[in-house]
Amino acid sequence: MTTAFLDHIRATLSDIESDGLFKRERLITTPQATRVRVGGREVINLCANNYLGLANHPALVAAATKAMQDHGYGMASVRFICGTQDLHRALETRLASFLGTQDSILFAACFDANGALFEPLLGAEDAVISDALNHASIIDGIRLCKARRYRYVNSDMIDLEAQLKAAREDGARHIMIATDGVFSMDGYHARLPEIRALADRYDALLMVDDCHATGFIGPQGRGTPAHFDVRADILTGTLGKALGGALGGYIAGPRPVIDLLRQRARPYLFSNALPPAIVAAAIVALDMIEAADDLRAQLFDNAAYWRAGLAQAGFDLLPGEHPIIPVMLHDAHKAQAMAARLFELGVYVSPFFFPVVPKGQARIRTQMNAALTRADLDEALAAFAQAGQDTGVLT
Ligand SMILES: *Cc1c(COP(=O)(O)O)cnc(C)c1O
Repeated sequence: MTTAFLDHIRATLSDIESDGLFKRERLITTPQATRVRVGGREVINLCANNYLGLANHPALVAAATKAMQDHGYGMASVRFICGTQDLHRALETRLASFLGTQDSILFAACFDANGALFEPLLGAEDAVISDALNHASIIDGIRLCKARRYRYVNSDMIDLEAQLKAAREDGARHIMIATDGVFSMDGYHARLPEIRALADRYDALLMVDDCHATGFIGPQGRGTPAHFDVRADILTGTLGKALGGALGGYIAGPRPVIDLLRQRARPYLFSNALPPAIVAAAIVALDMIEAADDLRAQLFDNAAYWRAGLAQAGFDLLPGEHPIIPVMLHDAHKAQAMAARLFELGVYVSPFFFPVVPKGQARIRTQMNAALTRADLDEALAAFAQAGQDTGVLT
């Protein structure tokens, strides 16, 4: 490798550093849970996507352990060569029945599912219309397909209709609208009833990425379409958040769509099968989740309590009910200072700033989970009040 090349890479790194955008990873030495040990200290964790507290649930650990004994450790194959076990098909049909679709197909991650989705289904004659705040993996997936691309301002239904009209006027054969079910930086739901009505009016398909909803939003945790009683034509989701938090993604939809993806989706055809331990535990997670009204009630109770406590302390919050509760600090340095002080006070949170959120909208995104107790939340609220004073966020 030439010195010039490495010098160029080093210069990029130091630009990231001097812009205050360098991300450092803390080392956790315990399982993922409401309290984790970091650098020898125990802290309350308010930044995992562990909404139902299943990431270290004994039933999932047991299912994974048993599957490792029955079905081995790794698959050492893509699915279509010799990487499909009974467990993979069992999870795919289980996911489809949970989500109310004809079938589903597994991927190594939802990032791959979104990367896989568009290219086999849409051609140059087609159009895809994407919300401007969609997840990076949807944006990348759309880049990989030949369809014409249209983008609408986040949740702006007037702009969505304008883009639908434009796509129709441009002669699109098929149109697919793509949206996150929940926008993860804000915790806002997509306006699915209005999006569905517009999709129907312009004869478009609706794709919803429900990563921050499946398992805990809607009846039995079936996600944002179920919450709004609206039909999505194609769903994508992750096993890496509420559904146990390990790894894996999926696309769910009509059987011919899933059949074609199995033939053509590149991240499926050219990447390894999920390991049996994860697949078996995900089946158990779905059984638990369907029956977990108590955990969902606890989650939303925690979210309401946490939101009310922060508001009362004087923090600036975005409105909503989702367990994603962003505390707006606006300024990137303030968000970083606040997160650093909170860590000293025993609360683990992550600051978000440009380019992850727009300039001037820096925040600390807190996330509730069902396993947090009132004592945890009271302790964390006291730390927020203290850190708010110490950093001049609260006056
Ligand atoms: C987390 C997330 C993904 C990526 O999921 P992985 O399974 O972790 O790759 C995709 N889309 C959205 C909306 C997400 O929140």
